[in-house]
Amino acid sequence: MNIKPEEITSIIKKQIEGYEDKVKAVDSGTIIQVGDGIARVYGLENCMAGELLEFPNNVYGMVMNLEQDNVGCVLLGDEEGIKEEDVVKSTGRVVEVPVGEEMIGRVVNGLGIAIDGKGPINTTETRPAETIAHGVIERKSVNEPLQTGIKAIDSMIPIGRGQRELIIGDRQTGKTAIAIDTIINQKGNDVICIYVAIGQKQSTVAHIYNTLTQKGAMDYSIIVSASAADSAPLQFLAPYTGVTIGEYFMDQGKDVLIVYDDLSKHAVAYRTMSLLLRRPPSREAYPGDVFYLHSRLLERAAKLSDKLGGGSITALPIIETLAGDITAYIPTNVISITDGQIFLESDLFYAGQRPAVNSGISVSRVGGSAQIKAMKQVSGTLRLELAQYRELAAFAQFGSDLDKESKKRLEKGKRLLEIFKQDQYQPVSVENQVIIIYACVEEYLMDIEVGKIKEFEKGLLDYIDTHHKEIGEAILTKKVLDDELKKSLNSAIEEYKKVF
Ligand code: ATP
Ligand code: MG
Repeated sequence: MNIKPEEITSIIKKQIEGYEDKVKAVDSGTIIQVGDGIARVYGLENCMAGELLEFPNNVYGMVMNLEQDNVGCVLLGDEEGIKEEDVVKSTGRVVEVPVGEEMIGRVVNGLGIAIDGKGPINTTETRPAETIAHGVIERKSVNEPLQTGIKAIDSMIPIGRGQRELIIGDRQTGKTAIAIDTIINQKGNDVICIYVAIGQKQSTVAHIYNTLTQKGAMDYSIIVSASAADSAPLQFLAPYTGVTIGEYFMDQGKDVLIVYDDLSKHAVAYRTMSLLLRRPPSREAYPGDVFYLHSRLLERAAKLSDKLGGGSITALPIIETLAGDITAYIPTNVISITDGQIFLESDLFYAGQRPAVNSGISVSRVGGSAQIKAMKQVSGTLRLELAQYRELAAFAQFGSDLDKESKKRLEKGKRLLEIFKQDQYQPVSVENQVIIIYACVEEYLMDIEVGKIKEFEKGLLDYIDTHHKEIGEAILTKKVLDDELKKSLNSAIEEYKKVF
């Protein structure tokens, strides 16, 4: 047979054209395996990573693994009724989340769908759950404080709007309490708060919802809840859903606070997914992937430039440690991603020092520039004084005789720690924080018994509020303690000490 080169070219050309057609025509596949919330689908040749697939019974799935002849995906709904050989349609969209003002005050699941029994949320807009974070040019540095209302934090570990501050500690050390108090303290501050609950008991989330409602904080808050009863994919998606909702507000120039409670459970959900998808447990998947998982989430917290409206997302991720081990894999990851950490310690917690903040290893790398000057003035020496106190306290345990100077340090440290004790749901305004820390730092409390410090604090703040309202106002307007203000503060404290 005589083959002509022109013919071969035309055959190849035809085949290439036909190939294109064949590929374009295919936008549905068949399930070859389904179980444990995972499905393998054959025939979806145009599929994207992260794409939404439509399964029977209105169930959606998300593509996670693109393999040579099939795709592995996770089901985002009930797998009952889905079986092998069923047809799956690709949607051409990645996972999207409803966003809008209407979400405020609602409790939604990991996909942004209402689960609070108050009916569907009528949003008009959706956004992809995974987006690329803003680049450096689009950002500016943190310059406005995000007051937590917690004395130990606002004075020593200040948080700025747009910052990422990790809350880390063992179980039951008051991690959630700090986040909830911070949300409550945003009342009237024009900050939209998003609480993302990952892998928690539904009863815990219900309790938080009730507390926030009672304190009037649901008026500006949204809860995204993927509880322990929800599937691993929903738990995995919940924080991305939360931050996507937050970005909608940030892009309008608003300030947002988002809490991820907690990312340890998020990592576990991801691990479950990875193993079910048969990703090898190594660098390719869990735990290696988790760094990327959490960094691409936390990178989305930002303070935008004025050109982009100046909005911000402040992120408070929470990590649970085992026996105080902050050097484990996931804790070190998140420590390195964030701009500082608030370390909570069981020993302090059980000793009654609540919030159990360990000021020695807690830091805030950027928040200081957002602190008001008056607070900086009074809090400048706190860390040092507490460090000295800890050292002396350990020494004093041996019953050794201390010199006068050391004794004074010890007494002052005790009083400072007493000031830092604070009950839940009792946020303190920044001017009151300045007043009471000033009183302690300037040694006005040295002749008051340690056991009476709390009583004195309350009395002093009430007294100044009723008799010298101008002091608090001056701190807020001047934002700095000048000589005149210091003088009136001194005399007000002296006055109160006479009546106490
Ligand atoms: P988990 O590991 O279970 O998530 P957690 O670290 O989030 O725990 P919380 O649930 O916030 O801890 O607090 C544990 C307990 O301590 C709660 O009963 C809470 O009411 C109490 N608690 C937290 N902070 C304070 C505080 N400042 N003063 C008094 N009690 C507190
Ligand atoms: Mg908790």
